[in-house]
Amino acid sequence: MSDALEVLNPATEELVAVVPAATRDDVDAAVVRATAAQRAWAAAAPADRARLLRRFAAVVDGHVEELALLEVREAGHTIGNARWEAGNVRDVLDFAAGGVERLSGRQIPVAGGIDVTFLEPLGVIGVIAPWNFPMPIAAWGLAPALAAGNAVILKPAETTPLTALRLAELALEAGLPEHLFQVLPGRGEVAGDALVEHPGVAKIVFTGSTRIGKRIMAKCADRVKRLTLELGGKNPNIVFADADLEAAAASAPMSFLDNTGQDCCARTRILVQRSAYDRFMELLAPAVEKVVVGDPYDENTQIGPLISRVQLERVRSYVTDDLTAVRGTAPEGPGFWYPPTLVTGVDPTAAIATEEVFGPVAVVLPFEDEEDAVRLANATDYGLAGSLWTRDVGRALRVSRAVAAGNLSVNSHSSVRYWTPFGGYKQSGLGRELGPDSLTAFTETKNVFISTEA
Ligand code: NAD
Repeated sequence: MSDALEVLNPATEELVAVVPAATRDDVDAAVVRATAAQRAWAAAAPADRARLLRRFAAVVDGHVEELALLEVREAGHTIGNARWEAGNVRDVLDFAAGGVERLSGRQIPVAGGIDVTFLEPLGVIGVIAPWNFPMPIAAWGLAPALAAGNAVILKPAETTPLTALRLAELALEAGLPEHLFQVLPGRGEVAGDALVEHPGVAKIVFTGSTRIGKRIMAKCADRVKRLTLELGGKNPNIVFADADLEAAAASAPMSFLDNTGQDCCARTRILVQRSAYDRFMELLAPAVEKVVVGDPYDENTQIGPLISRVQLERVRSYVTDDLTAVRGTAPEGPGFWYPPTLVTGVDPTAAIATEEVFGPVAVVLPFEDEEDAVRLANATDYGLAGSLWTRDVGRALRVSRAVAAGNLSVNSHSSVRYWTPFGGYKQSGLGRELGPDSLTAFTETKNVFISTEA
C-alpha cells in the first residue's frame, strides 16, 4: 500500500485528513514539469510576472480566513496568529512582486567596452518547510524565488501539508502557469531527500532543525548546490537593571510562549542583571501564570497546543521533576497540551539552557554586568535572534553589536518583518531571507563584457 500522511488536529487529536506521501518518482516527475515551466516563466516579460504574483497575493487575501481556519485545524495555532500568518503570505507575495522589475544588474566601468551584470534565475528551487509556521516560512522561500524567475517545488512538513496544498490551488486560480509552483507533501527522508539529491534542483531552502540542516548541507556540498538554511535558536532576552522592568516583564511571557514556544526566535533564555533579579521575577512569574492556554478558535486564547505527541514528549523530557519551575495552566484531556513554564536555578550549561526545547519553556539566568551578559548571551552554538532591555542608548548599541545573532531588538521583541533581512549567525543558519535582497538569493550573477574595439 502506498504511504500516506495522517494530519491530526493538535487540540483534539482528531483525524483531519489523510494525504498521499510523495515518492522519489513523484519528485522526479515534478522536477521535469517544473523545469519546463521555469523556462517559459523566465522568458516572460517582467511586468507580466509581477502582475501574476500580485494577483496571487490578491487571491490569498481573499482567502485569509479560510487559510487561517485550516492552519488552526492542522497546526493548533490560535486563530489570531493564523490570520496574521495567512496575511503574511499575501504581504510577502506583494513585496516580492514589487521586486521583479527592480531586479537590476550593474554597469561597471571598464576600458575598451562596456561591462554589465545580469541577475539570472537559478532554475528549480526546492523549499523544505517545517510545521511551526507552515504558511509564512513556505512563502519566504517561494515568493522571492518565483519573483526572480524560478520554479518552486515545496515540500511541507509531514504534520502540516494542508495549507501548502491550498496555496498551490490558489496560485492556479490566480493564473500562475501550471507546474511553476508545485506542492509535494511527503516524508523528509523520502521526498525531502529526493529534492536535495536531485541534479535538476538548483537550490534548497530549508527551515527546520539544525540536525537535519547539517545533513542537507553535507549533501548539497557534493554538488555545490545552493542552499539557504534557517535553523534553530536559543535566543537571549537580556534585561538590564536600568530597564523599564515593568515593560520588560509584561512582554517577556509572550516572547517565548507565542506559538506555544514553537518559534525559532522564541526568547527562551531570560538573562536578568542580578541586582534586578528578585524584582523582575516578582513581576514575571504571575505574568506567566496568567497566560491563557486553550481552544485555539477562542479569540481570547493566547496559546494553543503543541504540534504533536512527539513534540510533547520532547518538551517533557527537558523539564525534569528536579527543576525549580513556575508553571501556568493547560487544558486536560485530548490534545498535546503543555503549560507555560519558567525554569530557574539551572546551570547555564545545562541542556535546558542551551538546547532548543521548542515548547512553552524558558530558563531565567542571572548575570553580573554588561560583559557577563554578552558572554552568557553568546554561550550557545545558536545565533538567530535576541532582545535587550535598557534605558541606556550607548549600552543598547554596544550590546546589539556584541551579541552574535542575526536579529536583535531593543526594548521590544520584534524579529520578523517581510521587508527586513532575517537569518542566523553560527549554527542558526546560512544566508538571509526576506528584506531588500530576498530576490537576489535566488539568482546567479553573470558578468558580460562587450568590446567596443571590434
Ligand atoms: P525537521 O528538521 O526534522 O523537519 C523540518 C523539515 O525537514 C520537514 O519538512 C521534514 O520533513 C524535512 N526533513 C526531515 N528530514 C529530512 C531529510 N533527511 N532530508 C530532507 N528533508 C528532511 O524538524 P522536526 O523533526 O519536525 O522538529 C524537530 C526539532 O527541530 C524541533 O523540536 C525544533 O527544535 C527544530 N525545529 C526548528 C524549526 C525552525 O524554525 N528553526 C522548525 C521546525 C523544527
